[in-house]
Amino acid sequence: MEKVISMVHGSGGQATGELIHEVFAAEFDNETLDLMEDSAVVKGGSRIAITTDSFVVTPVEFKGGDIGRLCVCGTVNDLLMRGAEPKYLTCGAILEEGASVDQLKRVIHSMAETAREAGVQIVAGDTKVIEGSGGIYINTTGVGTVPKDRDISSGNAEAGDVILVSGTMGDHHAAILSERMNIETDIQSDNAPLGEMVGNLLAAGIRVHTLRDVTRGGLATVLKELAEAAGKQFVLEEEAVPVTPKVRDFCGMLGLDPIYMGNEGKLAAIVDREDAENALEIIRHSRYGKDAAVIGRVEDGEPGRLVMKTGIGGERVLGVLQGEGLPRIC
Ligand code: MG
Repeated sequence: MEKVISMVHGSGGQATGELIHEVFAAEFDNETLDLMEDSAVVKGGSRIAITTDSFVVTPVEFKGGDIGRLCVCGTVNDLLMRGAEPKYLTCGAILEEGASVDQLKRVIHSMAETAREAGVQIVAGDTKVIEGSGGIYINTTGVGTVPKDRDISSGNAEAGDVILVSGTMGDHHAAILSERMNIETDIQSDNAPLGEMVGNLLAAGIRVHTLRDVTRGGLATVLKELAEAAGKQFVLEEEAVPVTPKVRDFCGMLGLDPIYMGNEGKLAAIVDREDAENALEIIRHSRYGKDAAVIGRVEDGEPGRLVMKTGIGGERVLGVLQGEGLPRIC
């Protein structure tokens, strides 16, 4: 019979202890977590980056990933976007009664594997069980260190800078949407940790002014926010924005625009013009970056304006995503 989570797993007693040891500690073991203290004491640096994110994606497992991989990628990538070196994560799991223990084991295994890939340790955790219908939710807090003098920030774009993306737009969003709508496609989520890519850019001395992972709201929302933060005008070339034929067809069928659809393993980078070609090559040769492209530039122009030049010579002024979008993609 399939083992499922029941309220006793949240009691704090023996069943909770067994669940924690069998499912979580077995996968996340490291010398800090293994102490099982009330809080983890870790080595720090003088500048610490902290971020937190809750993951409520449905379905929990989807083409190309699952909530375990997703929560590590989302949190680690947010640290990386400030130039931080990700070090530690926490794992707060909220389990609904009826959740499959086998499914939980799979996503926690995936979380541990992705943490190893990203070079972070999971050093603290918590598990709660609530009434419900088998859902699995995970909150992760991430901690990283920021080297002295590193300054990568939303407002740092300068006129003349070049805007790049690390790959195709909309993949994660389209993968989740196809699962939810029961549409047969083989579109895979792009959920991926971007530490190797960012590390390669910085190690090569690329003058990276701004980084942002292209998540909820999509490329247009992210770049509009960055244009406003920098007080600059951003100009995009529509034909340069990479989208796979599969995602393009899927979006066409549903009347969606890939530039408003989220990814979970792509970044937008704004770099000094002189470094743009090198940056593109470095990203293309990094893991998860083969479809990188230069998509636009930063101008003095009208502060906060985001404009896209269309293939037929027109111009489209873009705002942030309006309305709800698809809920629970992350
Ligand atoms: Mg982000």
